Amino acid sequence: MPRVFLGLGSNLGERKNELDFAVCRLRQHPGIELIQVAPYLETDPVGYLEQGKFINTVVEIRTILDPYTLLWVLQTIEEEAGRIRTIRWGPRTLDIDILLYDDWVMDEPNLTIPHPRMKEREFVLLPLTEIGPDVPVPPDNLTIRELLNNYRQSR
Ligand code: AMP
Repeated sequence: MPRVFLGLGSNLGERKNELDFAVCRLRQHPGIELIQVAPYLETDPVGYLEQGKFINTVVEIRTILDPYTLLWVLQTIEEEAGRIRTIRWGPRTLDIDILLYDDWVMDEPNLTIPHPRMKEREFVLLPLTEIGPDVPVPPDNLTIRELLNNYRQSR
């Protein structure tokens, strides 16, 4: 089954509960096997700065779902969590992104894999380093650890 990594974040409501809820829903889904959950991390907002801090994590799953079906499942979980969205990159109760889907590379209107901004986001790279430091990120297949080092050197 494909090895998939998801990024989870919340900065509204009971943030930790939102992430717990998402992890619970993923665990319950018959097409998903939950493998690992990275430690939760509190982070400053990126992009739109006038909002509260986030709690982020990354999870590893195995799934029989194709990327679009998985995205639909994740969006359903977001909606169940009562996601409120007004501003792009603004506050949200629960955000779930597909970071990596095995070694797949796709760039479709509604789905880009690997996630296009994961290499510049410490709040993604740090939790990923905890659960998959040696996972290669296509298309150039640098590992998560190498990407985190590159990110730090660029700042
Ligand atoms: P966001 O506001 O970051 O949650 O973006 C949600 C939109 O991004 C959705 O409508 C998706 O179709 C699109 N999208 C593109 N690539 C991805 C991805 N890798 N994971 C999740 N959503 C994605």
